[in-house]
Amino acid sequence: MSKGIQPIRGMNDILPGQSGRWQHLEAIVREILGAYGYQEIRVPVVERTELFKRSIGEVTDIVEKEMYTFDDRGGESITLRPEATAGIVRAGISNGMLYNQRQRLWCTGPMFRYERPQKGRYRQFHQIDVEALGFPGPDVDAEIILLSARLWKRLGLKHIKLELNSLGTPESRAVYRELLVGYFREHYEQLDEDSRRRLESNPLRILDSKNPDLQGLIAGAPLLADHLDEESAQHFSRLRKILDNAGIEYSVNPRLVRGLDYYSRTVFEWVTDQLGAQGAVCSGGRYDGLVEQLGGPATPAIGWALGVERLLALMESQDYPFPADLPQAYMVMAGEAAETAGMRLAESLRDELEGLRLEVNCGGGSFKAQLKKADRSGAEVAVIIGENEVERQVVALKPLRGDGEQQEVTWADLAGRLGGFIEPGAGG
Ligand code: ATP
Ligand code: MG
Repeated sequence: MSKGIQPIRGMNDILPGQSGRWQHLEAIVREILGAYGYQEIRVPVVERTELFKRSIGEVTDIVEKEMYTFDDRGGESITLRPEATAGIVRAGISNGMLYNQRQRLWCTGPMFRYERPQKGRYRQFHQIDVEALGFPGPDVDAEIILLSARLWKRLGLKHIKLELNSLGTPESRAVYRELLVGYFREHYEQLDEDSRRRLESNPLRILDSKNPDLQGLIAGAPLLADHLDEESAQHFSRLRKILDNAGIEYSVNPRLVRGLDYYSRTVFEWVTDQLGAQGAVCSGGRYDGLVEQLGGPATPAIGWALGVERLLALMESQDYPFPADLPQAYMVMAGEAAETAGMRLAESLRDELEGLRLEVNCGGGSFKAQLKKADRSGAEVAVIIGENEVERQVVALKPLRGDGEQQEVTWADLAGRLGGFIEPGAGG
């Protein structure tokens, strides 16, 4: 049998059996973000290509080789967003939200990167993105880290660790950059092809290389921490103090640099060793220069983004108790009179039992065939109605799991009895 048109490689359907997990996670995230006063912003999935080039940086992996860029019918170059920060900053500027204002914002949705698809790495993937604009920190740096830590705690996650670093200001980084280039030039013959290319364009990214042959060389490189400007060093130590006091464990990773150009000072990553090579679950940092660079008023800012697919995979690997989203009850109706009465009964049950998940058998069939469907639906109980039940204004309640007995219940009592049978809204 032909499978029809295939989806685009690296882009996944989120099927009914999975979507309940996404909704569950999103509901928890919404609640936690609300508890910190963050408000949702929804921005377009496509932006002008120039926005990403100017924000993420021309010589980053994302802009060099991962963007989905097209000319639209008017000949303008547009790009499917590879990340959310640039669009949120653009929206903040175009809507005048950053003049003497502070914004705590979040957003969620699909992002697009033309990467090699593998477990935990897709071409369409989803992020939850949190941004605090207008705050110089380090208090707000701590806040968004505490917020993420609260999420892991709420989800009962284990094996997720925080790594922190400070990149200093662009000025102090420029000095360090020269030192680093000098060091790698001295060891040029040991560099791989990628790193040689980066040596001119983006030498800090060499520190992020995953090539095992380079690890020794990288370990010997000068440390950014030794060349931080005084204010950045103070900012970092104040952040650490707040985190220490709040009982947040972390390790300082002096080689943590991030893949986007716009970061300054605080950068961090929540990593796990339980997802193979795709271990970064949530990453972020401060980007004090970006708003101005994009034409807005000078506005300090910080944010993080978490990969929803990776977080769900981690929850699944730790047997997270996702709530069921199967129907709780299934209505079996045989004959025209029973269908007519059943459809109305089902409506009144949904009126009376908030959160009830009731599936009605549509499409007819014998009692036997319908009961089979009821069983396959995953419901706890079948509500059975035939011609005879209609005449007597009753239904039969038949437990589908365990060994309870079938009972007859009047229409008037049905909502009450069904409510006792299943927990309305349970797990929903
Ligand atoms: P990586 O080092 O794994 O490529 P990154 O540094 O490119 O990650 P960010 O740009 O910081 O990632 O994006 C934030 C989060 O989004 C990551 O921590 C990760 O969880 C998730 N993520 C990034 N790229 C992908 C992808 N292609 N597929 C699935 N999730 C992704
Ligand atoms: Mg990447």
